[in-house]
Amino acid sequence: MTHVTHWINGAISDEDSGRHGEIYNPATGLVTGTVAFADPATIDYAVEVAKKAFDNWRHSSLTKRVQVLFAFRELVNTHKEEIAALITAQHGKVLSDASGEVTRGLEVIEFACGIPHLLKGGFSEEVSSGVDVYSIRQPLGPVAIISPFNFPAMVPMWFFPIAIACGNSVILKPSEKDPSASMYMANLLKEAGLPDGVFNVVHGDKEAVDALLTHPGIKSISFVGSTPIAKYVYETGTKSGKRVQALGGAKNHMVVLPDADLDLAADAAINAGFGSAGERCMAISALVVVEPVADELIAKIKERMANIKTGNGAMGADMGPLVTLAHREKVAAYVAAGEKEGATLVVDGRDINIEGGGFWLGPTLFDNVTPEMSIYRDEIFGPVLSVIRVKSYDEALSLVNNHPYGNGTAIFTNDGGAARRYQNEVEVGMVGINVPIPVPMSYYSFGGWKSSLFGDSHAYGAEGIQFFTRGKVVTSRWLDPSHGGINLGFPQNT
Ligand code: NAD
Repeated sequence: MTHVTHWINGAISDEDSGRHGEIYNPATGLVTGTVAFADPATIDYAVEVAKKAFDNWRHSSLTKRVQVLFAFRELVNTHKEEIAALITAQHGKVLSDASGEVTRGLEVIEFACGIPHLLKGGFSEEVSSGVDVYSIRQPLGPVAIISPFNFPAMVPMWFFPIAIACGNSVILKPSEKDPSASMYMANLLKEAGLPDGVFNVVHGDKEAVDALLTHPGIKSISFVGSTPIAKYVYETGTKSGKRVQALGGAKNHMVVLPDADLDLAADAAINAGFGSAGERCMAISALVVVEPVADELIAKIKERMANIKTGNGAMGADMGPLVTLAHREKVAAYVAAGEKEGATLVVDGRDINIEGGGFWLGPTLFDNVTPEMSIYRDEIFGPVLSVIRVKSYDEALSLVNNHPYGNGTAIFTNDGGAARRYQNEVEVGMVGINVPIPVPMSYYSFGGWKSSLFGDSHAYGAEGIQFFTRGKVVTSRWLDPSHGGINLGFPQNT
């Protein structure tokens, strides 16, 4: 049994609010530890520490910041497997997936290493006689990051390397379901030479989040999680005068046109539908097939589903369990609702039989799903793929555009013109062409549209730099030395 507590001022901090949560291994169903829940007093303390650290860190040279980030990059890379093992033990995803998320986080650290170039401002000489104008970007202060359970290492790394590179101090509130990866990264940041107090981790639930959202010392909030909470965080944070980016839930559509390579599309549907047990905000959960290829595609998917080995992610399975029993029951209830609402249940993941007490639900496939059904409308966040058959490209496009979520989407086709039209017409933030999970590289930015994002700022890339800094423009007039400045032999203007 481990007890996870906060990381404040470069050390374990055992502030005790008297409240805590339980940590499970989802593959066994057993409690493996507890996690402390912060109360407002702990948040006050963390903010005070972060404020003090900010006053120094904002003046650290760009060279120093890059040295710390480079060292951190090396440490994360060296300890990738340890971080992955922690993720698998608390989240349940298979080790290769866990290690993949660390790799995606590493890419953001690498991007942040370019901070001297990224923070360069503009300069206009002689905007008026003897007058120059230039722009600089300055850090905000202590910033807060509130992250979800499904990427306990990657999502925090979407934000903190950039926030720190820009000169801010950070308070991270990771998901209480899998808090250990954050603690591991906090240790590595210290080892990399980051001064104490620049990066802090507080654990907890709504009470901790509310204290961060309203604390006057916190200057911005970067949130990732479900849509109802994202909306709440956006409204509460902005009401307190903070800059907020709140990334929400998703229902990602993959459109398959009749000319697509159906083997490629079937492989993609399997990976994007069932990878990480569907607990990805970029998972494909709605497969929109333009007839007449649905029967052929479903047969290929069904064949591949039979080969997916569901089991303990630490022991070589292809797909792990769901994160908690409550979540497993919620997903199972959606499967029951789909059947009741008239969809055809092609493969029922509830039948799965795995020894031990894990939170299991196998890959599930529905056919003949229609837009009114709850399995189509709602984000299920489990290994449930729904096929919606349509007659035309236009019908497919209007389904995607009428859905309230707009995180990611993909189109599968061999017609470049059709793909180009889709990328132009679709109302979704991230689009894949024959690529099922189009997560942008770290030098672009990640974010959805509509109910998948509250605020106007996406994560990392240029938008990350913009979010974690504020602009200042200086208009300056320096009189020529001929106006009586120091006498360096210039002719005097008297
Ligand atoms: P969640 O909304 O339950 O929790 C997210 C964070 O908010 C956690 O840190 C949690 O402790 C906190 N929280 C939970 N309830 C709260 C409340 N009532 N008040 C204040 N804070 C609260 O999300 P989750 O279940 O951890 O993660 C899964 C969700 O995250 C899915 O909806 C998924 O689509 C979404 N997600 C979105 C993206 C994206 O980039 N858009 C990425 C990853 C996950």
